[in-house]
Amino acid sequence: MTAATGRWEGTYEMVVGLEVHVQLKTATKIFCRCSTNFGAPPNQNTCPACLGLPGALPVMNDHAVELAVRAALALGCEVQATSIFARKNYFYPDLPKGYQISQFDRPLATRGTVTIGWRPDGSPVAVGITRLHMEEDAGKSIHDRFPAATAVDLNRAGVPLVEIVSEPELRGSVEADAYLKTLKQILEYADVSDVSMEEGSLRVDANISTRRVGEASLGTKTEIKNLNSFSGVVRALEAEYARQCGIRDAGGRIEQQTMLWDANTAEVRPARSKEGSHDYRYFPDPDLPPLILPIERIDRIRRELPELPQARRQRYAREFPGLTSYDVEVLTSQVALGDYYEQLARQSGDFKAAANWILGEVLAALNSTHQSIAHFTVRPADLAALLRMVAGGVVSRTAAKQIFARMVATGDPPAAIARRERLEQVSDDGALVAWVDQVLAENPSEAARFLGGETRLIGVLVGQVMRKSKGAADPKRVNQLLNERAGK
Ligand SMILES: [Zn+2]
Repeated sequence: MTAATGRWEGTYEMVVGLEVHVQLKTATKIFCRCSTNFGAPPNQNTCPACLGLPGALPVMNDHAVELAVRAALALGCEVQATSIFARKNYFYPDLPKGYQISQFDRPLATRGTVTIGWRPDGSPVAVGITRLHMEEDAGKSIHDRFPAATAVDLNRAGVPLVEIVSEPELRGSVEADAYLKTLKQILEYADVSDVSMEEGSLRVDANISTRRVGEASLGTKTEIKNLNSFSGVVRALEAEYARQCGIRDAGGRIEQQTMLWDANTAEVRPARSKEGSHDYRYFPDPDLPPLILPIERIDRIRRELPELPQARRQRYAREFPGLTSYDVEVLTSQVALGDYYEQLARQSGDFKAAANWILGEVLAALNSTHQSIAHFTVRPADLAALLRMVAGGVVSRTAAKQIFARMVATGDPPAAIARRERLEQVSDDGALVAWVDQVLAENPSEAARFLGGETRLIGVLVGQVMRKSKGAADPKRVNQLLNERAGK
């Protein structure tokens, strides 16, 4: 993988480390019992603890701990037996306590690895995870609700997050994109987060520096904030890379600062100095005891880890020989798609046909109807029935595609649609002979030439029979019947 480096390619290398904030899918907040439900009216999901009222005390949500440990183990991290919650002090209107509860020098987990691809020689391209720590989210400032005022919604204040910090080992925006997609996939498989960027459950800050190609030491980095889509990360990295390269080329020095990404103008601009301040004066939160994790608990969570993407890909290669690596890649890209595939393969009895249908018709239908596979109108059992109808010669491939389109629209089972729309393949000689007779009678000159030995005309005649039967005739049997007529 190489970076999209444009005019600076070959001169400067882009070096990136990413900080990814992931919302854990708990029903309640991290230090109180308020709901984490997305889309509630502003400030509805609040209580004295997450409003920061004096005297309210935080109480650890054990399910958040469970999910955070699971995330850490899925990323190959070492989970620490003791970690400490710390206050990260800063003032902002959407942070009523005046500090955010996070973890600082004693994070939950350290030293993980994410494999983002494979080199031509088969060795993995691995990116180190420096740390994974737990923290609470802040609230949200709303600038576009009232003409001359900013509103604050504290529904998100106290929503549980993990922050996953990578080593500065990504070389370019292509690798950054691959890392984010892989990370998202692992977290989805581990079932720790909805990983929905639209709902803010996955947010990214990027640290980026540049250096001359071949140089070993790292350059001064800047941090880009406000990144809320993977394509935004890619575009922001390329914009900031070009800015840094321009400064270097003109003999200037890169200043360590926080940059904000503006997706509308596709520009990075320096944050006001206060926005970039890193003087948080962390100290241990006196209201929360150290988080102690007995080894038995960590081991139990490790044993209960769901199957992760890499393991599923290896299993598919074993259980479904004949699938291409591309097939496997696509089928395992989402948990629910793989689940659907496995049900379809098992119930249809033909894993290759099942893969072809999903990669072709199913993905196209999901795309055009904007459905997710988990809520797709066509259930695997019904699609398996359709595949068996094709394999058994009950319907032709062409008819099967028509039936599938009706299944997508109505959710009806395929047999009912085939009957209703008269799409069942007719192999019964009575009907077929009648169609053959009619076609020969209606096309006397082709018929005479065919019966006189011009065998290549059979294609035309079969085509006529198929048209007459509206696709229902079994073409193989029609061929046989016509050949019999010609005395073959
Ligand atoms: Zn609360």
